[in-house]
Amino acid sequence: MPELPEVETIKIGLSKLLPGKRVSGVWHDWAKSFPNAEEDVRQFLIGAKIVVVARRAKVLLIELDSKYSLVIHLKMTGQLVFVAKGLAGSRSKIADNKAQKSLTTTYELPSTKDEVRFGAGHPTDSLVGNLPDKSTHVIFDFDDGSKLFFNDQRKFGWVRLLPKAEVPNIDFFKKVGPEPLGADFTAEQFRQRLLRRKNSNIKAVLLDQTIVAGVGNIYADESLWAAKIHPEALVRDVPKTKLNNLFIELQKILLLSIQKGGSTDKNYVDAEGKKGSYLSFASVFRREGLPCPRCGHTIMKTKVAGRGTHICPNCQRKSSK
Ligand SMILES: [Zn+2]
Repeated sequence: MPELPEVETIKIGLSKLLPGKRVSGVWHDWAKSFPNAEEDVRQFLIGAKIVVVARRAKVLLIELDSKYSLVIHLKMTGQLVFVAKGLAGSRSKIADNKAQKSLTTTYELPSTKDEVRFGAGHPTDSLVGNLPDKSTHVIFDFDDGSKLFFNDQRKFGWVRLLPKAEVPNIDFFKKVGPEPLGADFTAEQFRQRLLRRKNSNIKAVLLDQTIVAGVGNIYADESLWAAKIHPEALVRDVPKTKLNNLFIELQKILLLSIQKGGSTDKNYVDAEGKKGSYLSFASVFRREGLPCPRCGHTIMKTKVAGRGTHICPNCQRKSSK
């Protein structure tokens, strides 16, 4: 599953590419990947112009001038590949490090290239190979000849076309908690939300999408380490100052990760096909057996809330207050 920073990174990339393009056609071959009524598609998608690309929790939202939105969940193996005009089927420049570097800073298409492709999601050969391929389940055509391919090997992901006003009412959004980086989300609100499950261990609560949106395993481990909180500590036993500190550390880590293009955990590369570099900055995640960057004790891997969990047993003491 992509985490918040990965989807945010994809959003940032596609935001530079899609707005202003008009949808001229759509193709799909798997109803569950594109569960939309033909009539709605004809009326509210075809001919509509993309206004903005947004994100809520781990879901990507492509808003259209028809007052409808495409709601995209990549799930386990979903992938979005944007291919610029006339380039479908051609080999991409993702492997071209020079092009990547210049894109990283400016997000501009290299003007001298006659083929440009931007891939986001599960890093299979489909990011760079001929498209469509057997993992392609939805294709959007734009009026300038460019295309957006939704590829999904395991077919758990989906693209739903919904009235913009109804998007907040779908089950997924009704249940999901506030954005941890939301401008109006405060440390006090964060603490109050965690305390809704005060008798649970703090890692399980951090991972609970109904409490706070988008925090997955990597960011839970990293922020708990940074705030010196044992992941098995019950929320009610963690002092207020430490919970406030956890909020600050979580925000810092998410922002750093977005800056670095998301984590490289398993499947995700960013909107330019570039792997995120956050994991190389991680202090504890996947660093079992290595010294804690803060105190030098050996990092351990355990299991908390059913998930592989990385801690420094010296910095994160269960009994410490
Ligand atoms: Zn330590």
